[in-house]
Amino acid sequence: MKISGLRAYRIELPLHEGSYKWSGGNAVTVFDSTVVAVDTDAGITGWGEVCPLGPAYLPAYAAGARTGIAELAPQLLGADPMALGTLNERMDAAMRGHPYVKSAIDMACWDILGKASGLSVATLMGGHVGDDFALYRAISQESPEQMAARIAAYRKEGYTKFQLKVGGDPNTDIDRIRATSAVLERGDVLIADANTGWTQHAAIRVADAVRDVDVYIEQPCPTYDQCLAVRRHTNRPFVLDEVIDGIDMVVRGVGDRAMDVINLKISKVGGLTKARQIRDLCVSLGIAMTIEDTWGGDITTAAISHLAHSTPTRYLFSATDFNSYVTVSFADGAPRRAQGRLAASREPGLGVKPRLDLLGQPVIKIG
Ligand code: MG
Repeated sequence: MKISGLRAYRIELPLHEGSYKWSGGNAVTVFDSTVVAVDTDAGITGWGEVCPLGPAYLPAYAAGARTGIAELAPQLLGADPMALGTLNERMDAAMRGHPYVKSAIDMACWDILGKASGLSVATLMGGHVGDDFALYRAISQESPEQMAARIAAYRKEGYTKFQLKVGGDPNTDIDRIRATSAVLERGDVLIADANTGWTQHAAIRVADAVRDVDVYIEQPCPTYDQCLAVRRHTNRPFVLDEVIDGIDMVVRGVGDRAMDVINLKISKVGGLTKARQIRDLCVSLGIAMTIEDTWGGDITTAAISHLAHSTPTRYLFSATDFNSYVTVSFADGAPRRAQGRLAASREPGLGVKPRLDLLGQPVIKIG
């Protein structure tokens, strides 16, 4: 089988809550997502999606994804989409870095492999573990009282894991952690995610002030070394996210005992092939994972569901259903949250059928 063409579509994804706010005064109201179709000479089309969380989050932005895809795609014509290792080598040789550019293409090729073999991507990645898996809910940065109210509301929808967006004023963040932990019930999980927003000294202050609270501390500071300093100071379980941008950082972090959990974002590491490699390494080393992406809609959520559903339960800390945060659904067959849980499709590939009437005309067409 050979890649015969590639199309990319741009779609806007507004948020149910109106906006999503995190550290540094950052906010997004409408996500700018890119949907990729990889066409083949066998008549099979695979689908992928990439949706950066705005240009201020990681070194990635929506227009950059499309520019990179237009640059890279002509060099993939004729390649075998099912030879995923070779395909990733070809992408890495043709374009240095820019993992998020490659992610949707890699995702689409997994969809092709699944459709050609008649197997779900989760089956190809190790098999569906159990019926479904638990999700977390991100709680946008608001006042402590508003965030506690959001948690109470999302609890009623079945969520039991809550990721607070902190990383603001440290005194307010201490209040946010205390106010939200007060509304939790036994068995709930609370994560304080600073998204790199604290200085090292502020992070140590916050971690000290909440040392009696059952809370995880996530990515307090911008750099790995700053996070490691906080980690060595605090007795709270510790999550690394933004600095885990590839398997080498996982190896380094494990060597330094720098974290208990990582946040594995598919596009941050370059696609499902590399995310699965990291997932398998973490399982072998006993590091739990939140499996997710920077953002996205139905196809990103489907890809997350396959990687998460094929992960041993004790190492799957949580996962995300981004398509429930946004008001637009553009693919039939995408997984839908039920009682705070999600399941991957058992259909071949990713199990999604994008609606071309909603995607409109392609903004990139190669081949
Ligand atoms: Mg995070």
